[in-house]
Amino acid sequence: MTYRIAIIGAGMGGLAAAALLAQDGHAVTLFERFPTAKPLGSGLVVQPVGLAVLDALGAGEEARSLGAPLTRMLGHSGPRIALDVAYRTGQPGLAMHRAALFHCLWQAATRAGISPTTGHTATGTREGPVGIHLTTDQGEHGPFDLIIDASGAASTLSPLKSRPLPFGAVWAHVPWPVTDLPGTELRQRYHRASRMAGILPIGRLPGDPTPRAAVFWSLPTAELDAWPTKDLDGWKAEVTDFWPAMSPFLAQITDKAQLTPARYSHGTLAKPYNQRLIHIGDAAHRASPQLGQGANMALLDALALALALRLPLEDALPRYRQSRRWHLGLYQTLSAAFTPQYQSHSRALPALRDRLLSPISRFWPLPRILSALVSGDLIPPIAGQPTGHQPK
Ligand SMILES: Cc1cc2nc3c(=O)[nH]c(=O)nc-3n(C[C@H](O)[C@H](O)[C@H](O)COP(=O)(O)OP(=O)(O)OC[C@H]3O[C@@H](n4cnc5c(N)ncnc54)[C@H](O)[C@@H]3O)c2cc1C
Repeated sequence: MTYRIAIIGAGMGGLAAAALLAQDGHAVTLFERFPTAKPLGSGLVVQPVGLAVLDALGAGEEARSLGAPLTRMLGHSGPRIALDVAYRTGQPGLAMHRAALFHCLWQAATRAGISPTTGHTATGTREGPVGIHLTTDQGEHGPFDLIIDASGAASTLSPLKSRPLPFGAVWAHVPWPVTDLPGTELRQRYHRASRMAGILPIGRLPGDPTPRAAVFWSLPTAELDAWPTKDLDGWKAEVTDFWPAMSPFLAQITDKAQLTPARYSHGTLAKPYNQRLIHIGDAAHRASPQLGQGANMALLDALALALALRLPLEDALPRYRQSRRWHLGLYQTLSAAFTPQYQSHSRALPALRDRLLSPISRFWPLPRILSALVSGDLIPPIAGQPTGHQPK
């Protein structure tokens, strides 16, 4: 059974869905608003569950050659350890520059015969007698059997009204400098939950052998609003004073344009589809990046949808929802619970984190549970999918 499918957005979920669905023989048209598709932001972690999707796409090997294997996440609050999570031996996370992940997905989509229709901004859909039509700023397209909205957090087609979170961050990526910090760990430093600095090794960019780091600095949204007027040298001095290990990383930031502000929001669509329109990735669910799961969720959505679309359409969309429902629900709930421990004005939550939760997290079986949590497989990510993706 094959379908005519339009996908909106050549981001993480859209590219993965396009490649997987084309591999299964569907007629896929991928629309992207940018004239040249490009990734925004700096670094992210592809967790083991996301890597399994990249493997299904034939992109895992290239991703591993670009990314930095991540074995541990370690965060200090003054002298106390506030976060210490190790990945399972032999199953690290893969920290990557966003452009490197994008490159791997783009290559996979190209290999599957996808040639994205760029410079088209989706504006709406229209149900017709023989399918659904997509409207873009360039005209109407279709009919299609299904439209997949993978247009991310700014989706204009998704009914999701997410809750803005009170903190965001500024991000940059720089060449990995001479430093005592290990190149296989995410390191963070906190003051209560109101200040957080982080350093993440992210491997290299395609075509460039230089190993790189993503650095980030958490800010309340009011300070993000004032970010354009912030003095760069004053900011660098403030961050270095907070965590001197940041100094060789910040020395390479000489222009504020190197820093990307990011705002976060939280929300989940109760039902991610309606007739012939389905939302995946950030168009269907958003969370802070604290658990490092957003791109993984988009990749898992893409794989789960491709598997479901091997069924008749009327069964496929409910099946898709069922297969992702519990995993998504659990991670969205945990993200909502954990984020205020690291990004909020609360004094009680970080005190609880440092004095109670972190110390007890070192006792069995909590280290194993936390490893599974960050790896993305605390429960099966795609219910009813026992042995990974097999070609159709
Ligand atoms: C600072 C930061 C750090 C993060 N860290 C992590 C991490 O460590 N691990 C992790 O897994 N996730 C992380 N995330 C989250 C992750 O980046 C997102 O969850 C993921 O990119 C969502 O994928 P997506 O395919 O839904 O959307 P996107 O990747 O955002 O792609 C959406 C695409 O749709 C296009 N588009 C938008 N509107 C239209 C339109 N109307 N018409 C046509 N095209 C359109 C966009 O141009 C874009 O190409 C982080 C996010 C941020 C902001």
